[in-house]
Amino acid sequence: MTEIPQKGVLLNSEKGVQDSILAFLKSAAEKKVFDAIMMPMKVPSGDSFAWIMIKDMAWLDNATPLAPIMPVNAAKAVKRFTRKGEGRNKVAILIRPCEVRACVELTKLNQIKTEDLIIFSYDCPGALPMQDYIKDPDWGDSEFEKLLSNNIWNSDLVKPVCKICDKFSLPASDLHFGRENDRLLLMANSKKGIDFISEMKLEVNEELGKWKKAIEEITSKRLSAKEETFKVIKNKVEGLDNLLNTFAECIGCHNCQSACPICYCRQCYFDSVASKPNSDIVLMRAEQRGGVSLPLDKLMFHTGRMAHMSLSCISCGLCSDACPVNIPVAKIFSYVASETQKTFEYTAGESFGDALPMKEYKPEELGELGNLVNSAEIQEGDHE
Ligand code: SF4
Ligand code: SF4
Repeated sequence: MTEIPQKGVLLNSEKGVQDSILAFLKSAAEKKVFDAIMMPMKVPSGDSFAWIMIKDMAWLDNATPLAPIMPVNAAKAVKRFTRKGEGRNKVAILIRPCEVRACVELTKLNQIKTEDLIIFSYDCPGALPMQDYIKDPDWGDSEFEKLLSNNIWNSDLVKPVCKICDKFSLPASDLHFGRENDRLLLMANSKKGIDFISEMKLEVNEELGKWKKAIEEITSKRLSAKEETFKVIKNKVEGLDNLLNTFAECIGCHNCQSACPICYCRQCYFDSVASKPNSDIVLMRAEQRGGVSLPLDKLMFHTGRMAHMSLSCISCGLCSDACPVNIPVAKIFSYVASETQKTFEYTAGESFGDALPMKEYKPEELGELGNLVNSAEIQEGDHE
C-alpha cells in the first residue's frame, strides 16, 4: 500500500458495492468532472468482459465496474490510447490494484502517459480464473457478487496469485474505493484525487482507522500464504532439471507472453524470424544431443522472458489464465520476480516516482556480479 490518507469520504453504499460505485461515477460524469470513462462490459456472448471507452453515460447502465474476471490487464488497454501523450479529454478509469501497478511500470517504460487519466482503484477481492468463469458465467457472476457483498477475502475460488496477493488495496491510483463491512469509502491519493474531491464538493471527514486495520490483517495473512506458496514453487523450479520438468508440457504457444501487460518489446525476439533456425542448425543440435524437442527453445523463451520482465512483473496472473496446458506460470514468475525485485530493493508498480532499477543501477551495487559486468564492458571497449 502507498501512504494511507488520514480521512476519506463516506459514500452511500445502500445499493451494494457495484451499483453504489456505478451511481457515484455517474454523478461525477453528470458534473463533467471527466469526459469519458473506461470500464468493463460483458461481451455479447455473455461469457467474458471487454474494456469499453464509454462516452454516452447511458451505457454505464450495462457496465460492470468490478468484473469477476480480468481477460485483459487494463494497462494493455490504457497503453492503446495514451501512448502518444496528452489529448484534449479527461478519461476516468476504474481498475484493479495490479492493473494500476502495471500502468505504473508501463509509464516508466514510456508506453503509457497518465496526463489525461484519473485513475480509480478499489479493494480487490481477487479475480476468478478465466477457465472457471467461461464454463459457467452465471455461477461466476453470483459467486463474485457474494465475495463483494459478504466481504470475503480468503476465497478458494479466486486465481492462485490472487490468494497470495498482499497488494490488493490502495495502489498508486488517484482515488481509491475502500470497502470495510458495509462502509464504502473514497480516498484521495494524489493531487489529481484531491482536486476531483473538491470539484465534486465532497466532505472528507470519515475516519479510516478501522478500514486500515482490516486491510492490515488481511495483508498479514496473505503474506504468510505467499511465503508458503513460494517455498513450494522454489523447490519445484530451482535448478535446470526442475525447470525443464516444469516446462516440459509447454506447447510453445507464447500465450503467456501475449497476455502479459509487462512484456513491452515492440518486436519479440522469440516471435521474430531471427529466432527460427534453418533445418541444418536444428539437425546439428539434434546430432549433438541425440534429438531435440520441437518447437525449439521453450526453456530459453521462459528464462529470456524472466530476465526481461521479472523486475516489473506485478503478479496479475494473466499468463496462467492464458496457458492452455495449466502450467502455473504466474506463480513461477511471481516467485522469480519477488527474488529479482528483492535484489534490487524495488517493488514493481509501487510508485510513479521510483526509477526502474535497470535505468539507474551501478554495477558496483551487485558485488561480484557487478565486477563481471564491469570487466565485460571493458573487454567490449577493447574490441571496438
Ligand atoms: S508474468 Fe504473468 S503475473 Fe507477471 S505481469 Fe506478466 S502476466 Fe502478470
Ligand atoms: S502459455 Fe503455457 S504452453 Fe503457451 S508458451 Fe506459455 S507456458 Fe508454454
